[in-house]
Amino acid sequence: MRQKLIVGNWKMHGSRVQVRQLIQDIETGTTGLSDKVEIGVSPTFLHLGLASELCDSGRIKLAAQNLYSEPKGAFTGEVAAPMLAEYGVSYVLVGHSERREIFAESDQLVAAKFKAAQESGLIPILCLGESLTQREQGASEEVVVAQLDAVMSTAGIASLQFAVLAYEPIWAIGTGKTASPEQAQRIHQVLREHIAKSDAGIAKSLRIIYGGSVNAANAAELFSQADIDGGLVGGASLEAKEFVSICKSAD
Ligand code: PEP
Repeated sequence: MRQKLIVGNWKMHGSRVQVRQLIQDIETGTTGLSDKVEIGVSPTFLHLGLASELCDSGRIKLAAQNLYSEPKGAFTGEVAAPMLAEYGVSYVLVGHSERREIFAESDQLVAAKFKAAQESGLIPILCLGESLTQREQGASEEVVVAQLDAVMSTAGIASLQFAVLAYEPIWAIGTGKTASPEQAQRIHQVLREHIAKSDAGIAKSLRIIYGGSVNAANAAELFSQADIDGGLVGGASLEAKEFVSICKSAD
């Protein structure tokens, strides 16, 4: 049985006051949830120190939104995996579509970041997803499989034992348009079947979470699909009540 994972991606939002309040409210609101569900929050780099102190019970896991592929060096403005590990970070988003699109991250860089995360003991949450045009062309399955293969050819199939996949159709991120449970389930199943061709055991245990306008109203149905193991939640994770309700629907 795969444990559900719900991670709030706070993107470039929040002040110290808001981060403190949000974590306290999530902590209180999710007390009593069973261990069927694991909860994570992903504040900005600047707020990780504060968040790490507030999450010291370990019940809410910390996720970083990004990292650089090198462990140290002259890379002005970047943050390395060992630095994140020092702050108690457990997960790190890799290849989020906003990084791929706005910051032109290539499959090669995404793969290097994925490896760098694992080398420091962090669990990469590898984001995969097609654009609206690609969906309209019927290319969704092909696109996400190619994105996964680009990372697997560098990191190897065994690396998926220590990773999470997030299917995030770009047309559903921050748009209020959610993939239907059937559309999302189909892609999750395709990814799992693709991995099973190389390693059935890893395919069975790997968590594949869904992201794209998840909210309190649609979460339960999405999470009840056979291959959907939780959610990566953007906008709705900035409201404690809404996020807590999403977490509860995974329990
Ligand atoms: C995201 O940014 O990962 C995301 C899923 O955002 P939203 O929930 O706002 O669509």
